[in-house]
Amino acid sequence: MKCSFCKNESILSRSYEGHNYCEKHFIKFFEKRVKKTIRVNKLIENGDKIAIAYSGGKDSSNVLFLLNKIFKNNPKIELFAMTFDEGIKGYRDKIIKRSESFCKELGVKNYVFSFKKEFGFTIDQLSKKLDSGFCGSCGILKRSLLNKKARELKATKIATGHNLDDECQSILMNVLRGDLLRLVRVGPMPMIGIHTKFIPRIKPLVLTPEIESELFAKINNIPFYPKKCPYSVDNPLRGKTEDFLNNLEKSSPGIKYSLYECACKIAPFIKEKFKAGKIGNCRKCGEPSSQEVCKVCELIEKLSP
Ligand code: SF4
Ligand code: ZN
Ligand code: ZN
Repeated sequence: MKCSFCKNESILSRSYEGHNYCEKHFIKFFEKRVKKTIRVNKLIENGDKIAIAYSGGKDSSNVLFLLNKIFKNNPKIELFAMTFDEGIKGYRDKIIKRSESFCKELGVKNYVFSFKKEFGFTIDQLSKKLDSGFCGSCGILKRSLLNKKARELKATKIATGHNLDDECQSILMNVLRGDLLRLVRVGPMPMIGIHTKFIPRIKPLVLTPEIESELFAKINNIPFYPKKCPYSVDNPLRGKTEDFLNNLEKSSPGIKYSLYECACKIAPFIKEKFKAGKIGNCRKCGEPSSQEVCKVCELIEKLSP
């Protein structure tokens, strides 16, 4: 098949919009979409100091590469990366080496924080202690540490690598779990709660399907770790939701965009209807929490020897 914009062979077909893309036009299209997402939603503005949550996977590596490309010559915007070492042997240790060298290559400062140092245990240790639920616990610990460390480093926003597929999986999983309130987390700059200690999150790849994210990283020789975390099997609902959505997308191309847009339209109503209660500070650690003791402190207490 030929590219819709030149005579070259196409490498990607977006059948639902009727366009095929060659390598050159795909890169152009991809970058334009990210820039538009940033501009239209005012994700990044002059004076911002952006912390990039950099896991070393394709999506966060693309975010690092693109934000650096777009803003490196803008003296009014600062960027740095943050990597979390959860203590997963044979996985995270391998990724960190590559991540550090990519940051060096781009000239972006990377801060690495380890679970062992911050919480006193690794996810490897946790997996031996719990029969299940360690992936969810890891997520809670990581989200909290990301917000805390970004704040300490004076970041004004946190950029994450969430792509269209991640977003759709979360929407569907929240519906399946009956957790309607979490739907307000959808979108390029979700409101996670009103608290001065919360750093706003931005998702520059929110309109990027996963398959296109992988293609972009490969074409641009962006180093990324291709394997999934060995503990992701601890979250079977996500894997099944992912398969379900991919099958639907095959028979009804564009359905992920429809689901995402639908959730974005519903989110303001949910927010209005269930106006979030006041978020206070955890009695133990002082981090934002809707309960007297936050989930992180609860976990640490449960897991301490
Ligand atoms: Fe942690 Fe789960 Fe992510 Fe692995 S998949 S790094 S256990 S949150
Ligand atoms: Zn072309
Ligand atoms: Zn706490």
